[in-house]
Amino acid sequence: MKVLGVLPFARLLLENALSEGDIAVDCTVGNGHDTLFLANVVGENGHVYGFDVQEQAIEKATEKLTTHEVHERVTLFQTGHEEVRSLIPKDVHSKLKGAIFNLGYLPGGDKTIVTRPTSTMAAISALLEMMPLGGTIVLVIYHGHEEGKVEKETILSFLEQYDQRLAHILKYEFINQANNPPFVVAIEKR
Ligand code: SAM
Repeated sequence: MKVLGVLPFARLLLENALSEGDIAVDCTVGNGHDTLFLANVVGENGHVYGFDVQEQAIEKATEKLTTHEVHERVTLFQTGHEEVRSLIPKDVHSKLKGAIFNLGYLPGGDKTIVTRPTSTMAAISALLEMMPLGGTIVLVIYHGHEEGKVEKETILSFLEQYDQRLAHILKYEFINQANNPPFVVAIEKR
């Protein structure tokens, strides 16, 4: 397929936004796939901050980052992403160029622990204030589960009303796939 799938498209957006030496945030670390990806994009002079509420996620991700020898350029917090502003040092905000959220539950984990619209929107708002112009937030929205439907609607309606002078916001979605396929929302600060 020549049209990029949702996950490759999400990564392309982050590769475009981030350069070697930048700061990136993985707002939903889970098993650490995106954390590892971001650590490779920012390189050894950059840094990644990762957030997840589950101990299991932080442990698995730490193991993955250590195996790939990038753990020294990553700081993981076992807390909600709504804490981004208080936990990411102020002196690195000017280099905070990219962030990702994978909304939903941890694959292979506890399906009752899901991201929630209130904290997701709080984190998006905080990141937009912290980031320099051009900073990009990518959301991969999984909405097949009950809470996911509400989260999708709430976040889309929040972002659809966001002042276009403050951010470019796009939605990238396959419209003929079965079973509520995930889609991407990208927010670029302007
Ligand atoms: N990107 C991950 C990976 O590579 O495996 C998958 C993330 S999974 C879809 C969503 C994750 O968000 C879960 O691990 C869950 O524990 C976490 N989560 C739920 N609420 C959160 C919050 N308020 N802050 C940070 N993480 C949260």
